[in-house]
Amino acid sequence: MKAMSTTHRRGRTTPKKSEDIWGDRLKAPFKAVGDHIGVDLPGGRALFFTRRGGVSGEPFEELNVGLDTNDYMPAVEENRKRVGQLIGIPPERWLESKQMHGSDVRIVTELPDAGAEPVEADGVATTLEDVAAVVVTADCLPVALIAPGGVAIIHAGWKGLAADVLKKGVEKLREAGVEDEIQAAIGPSIGVCCYEVNTHVHRAFMRYPRGTARLSNHAHLKNVARLQLQHAGIPLDHVHDVDICTMCAPRSLFHSHRRDRGNDPKDTGRQASAVWRVAGDGGDGDAD
Ligand SMILES: [Zn+2]
Repeated sequence: MKAMSTTHRRGRTTPKKSEDIWGDRLKAPFKAVGDHIGVDLPGGRALFFTRRGGVSGEPFEELNVGLDTNDYMPAVEENRKRVGQLIGIPPERWLESKQMHGSDVRIVTELPDAGAEPVEADGVATTLEDVAAVVVTADCLPVALIAPGGVAIIHAGWKGLAADVLKKGVEKLREAGVEDEIQAAIGPSIGVCCYEVNTHVHRAFMRYPRGTARLSNHAHLKNVARLQLQHAGIPLDHVHDVDICTMCAPRSLFHSHRRDRGNDPKDTGRQASAVWRVAGDGGDGDAD
């Protein structure tokens, strides 16, 4: 039976029926969680957010969580609070980085002090419980790594993928002490359909097979991600791709930097992706 989870539906958002948004678009293990996309894998849960259900106005409508955007910051703060309510972990307990399009993934072993400057990195691996590892994207790949002993989240654009950011993410999760089987979930991000690139980008993926990673003048970043995760030791049947393109999906669903081409990147909103550990019966439901 394909009943959607209602575990995290509370608070002020009153999404329309998710069937109206997703139809049969979401394949297991992905499922609709209100207007957003959830995935439960052994040891943790990830939620890939759409842009629906926030308070930001144009051009950031509605759910923009990007602090490094030209949006009205009180709106962004409210949006982040709403995301926190949906995942059951408030923003004060999020592990985030200043995303650099690089390949550093850091291990976090304790919650940073409130107000601490975010560390430059493109991913976080942790074994902590009751925290969420979060990245923000607007076409780049949000990739969650989930294992019974820990979780990681990674922001992977073409530069990061070319620099092996996913391989490093798996290595960091291992280094953090995770010995169990890791599964990966690739969230909504730009598809090969829309990712036309120049030869410079093509060349960055020469070591990946033509026809899989490189197709005429397009790059298939999701296939690169799959192969890189496989090289890092995750079997392909443990790599789950939601297979939704942020650029050609309806504008009302996702922020897409490339769709807004020509604009200042700070004028494009960012959607959140979060992953957290779920041991046994799941979240503790604390209100913020
Ligand atoms: Zn597309």
